[in-house]
Amino acid sequence: MGQPMHKLCWEQSIQVDHIICLECGQPLQLLSHRHLTRHSLTPTTYKRKYHIPQTQSLSSRSLRLRRQQLAICCRTSA
Ligand SMILES: [Zn+2]
Repeated sequence: MGQPMHKLCWEQSIQVDHIICLECGQPLQLLSHRHLTRHSLTPTTYKRKYHIPQTQSLSSRSLRLRRQQLAICCRTSA
């Protein structure tokens, strides 16, 4: 199967037209509360677990925003 999802930082999980669930690696249009309950998580606990700002929406992003996030992402790891 694929690569371990924990290697993906959350900024990279939010794509232009989909968001990848960091728990199961499934691409989704929207990381819904309903989906997160399968992992015994809520949007709040999911964001806390992956250090995602609470203000971040768990849905796909525009390309412009994605580029900004990737630039931040690769500098702040470790
Ligand atoms: Zn999932």
